[in-house]
Amino acid sequence: MSSTPTTFDVRADFPILSQTVHGTPLVYLDSGATSQKPQVVLDAEVDFLTRANSAVHRGAHTLAGEATELFEDARATVSGFLGARPEQLVWTSGATFALNLVAYAIGNATAGRGPSRFALAPGDEIVVTETEHHANLIPWQELAARTGAVLRSIPVRDDGTLDTDAAASLIGERTRVVAFTHVSNVLGIVNPVAELVALARTAGALTVLDACQSAPHLPFDFDALGVDLAAFSGHKMLGPYGVGGLLGRSDVLDDLPPFLTGGSMVTTVTLDEAHFLAAPQKFEAGTQPVSQAIGLAAAARYLEGLGMDAVHDRERTLERRMMAGLREIEGVRILGDASGVERVGIASFDVEGVHAHDVGQFLDDRGVAVRVGHHCAKPLHARFGLTASVRASTSVFTTDDEIDVFLDALAGVRPFFGVGA
Ligand code: PLP
Repeated sequence: MSSTPTTFDVRADFPILSQTVHGTPLVYLDSGATSQKPQVVLDAEVDFLTRANSAVHRGAHTLAGEATELFEDARATVSGFLGARPEQLVWTSGATFALNLVAYAIGNATAGRGPSRFALAPGDEIVVTETEHHANLIPWQELAARTGAVLRSIPVRDDGTLDTDAAASLIGERTRVVAFTHVSNVLGIVNPVAELVALARTAGALTVLDACQSAPHLPFDFDALGVDLAAFSGHKMLGPYGVGGLLGRSDVLDDLPPFLTGGSMVTTVTLDEAHFLAAPQKFEAGTQPVSQAIGLAAAARYLEGLGMDAVHDRERTLERRMMAGLREIEGVRILGDASGVERVGIASFDVEGVHAHDVGQFLDDRGVAVRVGHHCAKPLHARFGLTASVRASTSVFTTDDEIDVFLDALAGVRPFFGVGA
C-alpha cells in the first residue's frame, strides 16, 4: 500500500476556479451546497443540446432515437457508478424530489392506491435522525400528519455521533420507515448505515437513505449498503442542476405506487383509468431532465476516472488538515468534534462572539467562499444551542493550500471584530 497522500491535478478541469474574488484567488469551500462542474460536464450538456436535443421515449425520428439512447446510457452509467442496475434508478430533479416521491408514494399506498405492505396506520412510526437535512425531515412530518403515523427521531450525542443505543430502543415493532442521512451535511460524519439497516430489517421497516453528501465523496455501493431506497443529488457530485435520483431495490420500486402521474409513465389510458409502466418509468411522469442526466453521466465518468477510493482518501486528508487547523483556533467550536470516526470533508463551526454571517462576510472579503446559516438543518443547530454556523466543505479540486488560506483567514476573525483576548 502506498503511503503517498493522494493529490489530484484537476484544477484546470474546473474553469470557474481560476477567477479572483475581491482581488484574491477564489477559494471555493462550499461544495456541500453545490459543487463546481468540470469542463467535461459542461461540454456533455452543450454537445447534447447542440447535436442531439430531442424528446426521449416519444419520437420515431432520428434525433429522438439518439436522444433516447444517450439518456438511457446515462442511466446505465450513473446507476453503475452508484452500485445499482439501470432499472433501479429513477431520475428526479434532485434529492428533495426523490425523498418527497417516497413519502407521497407511501401516502398513496396508505390511501389504498398501492399495496398494503407500504400503508401506514395511525400509531405506526417513522424514525428519522436529529441530523437530517430538512429535505429528509419535512416530507416525513407531512406524511405523519396525513396518516396519523408518529415521527420519532434518533438523537445525536454531544460529539456529533448518532446515539445508536437510543436507535436500538426507538426502532421497534411499530416502526415502518427508517429514513436517515448517510453523511450529515453539517457534521460531515458518516452515520452507521449497517447498524441502522440491521435494526430496521429486524423491525420489518423500509429504509430510506439520503446519500447527498456521501455519493460525491466516497465509494457508494447501493447494493452493498442494503437500504431499500436512496436519494442523491446531481449538482453536489460535479453534475448539473435539476437532476438527481432515487435508487430502489427492484421489489420495492415494482410495488411502490407512483407519486406524480401524467405523460411518459403509462401503458394504456382511457377517460376513466390509466395503467402504469414498470419502474423506473412509472415514477418519471412528464418531460425528463435529459441534458442534465447526460451531464451527470459525464460527472460520474469523471469521478470514476479519479477513482472513488482515491477521492475518499484525498478528502480525508483535506478533512484532517481542516479539522486539526480548526481545533487550533481560539474561540472556534466545531459542531460534532468526535475523533476516530469516518468523515468526509465537511466541517461546521461557531466562532464565539462573532455571528456566522459576519464570519462569512469576512472570509468572502478574503476570497474564501463558505456557507453560513442553518444549512437546512435547524433541529441539529438547535441541538447544539445555535441558530447558525459556518460550514466549510471540500471537493476533489480543493488543495491543501486552500485549506491553509481559509484557516489563516479564520484566525483573523476574532481579532478583527475585537473579540477575545
Ligand atoms: N439532503 C442533504 C443531506 C443535502 O445536503 C441536500 C442539499 O443541500 C439535500 C438533501 C437536498 O438536495 P437537492 O438540492 O438535490 O434537492
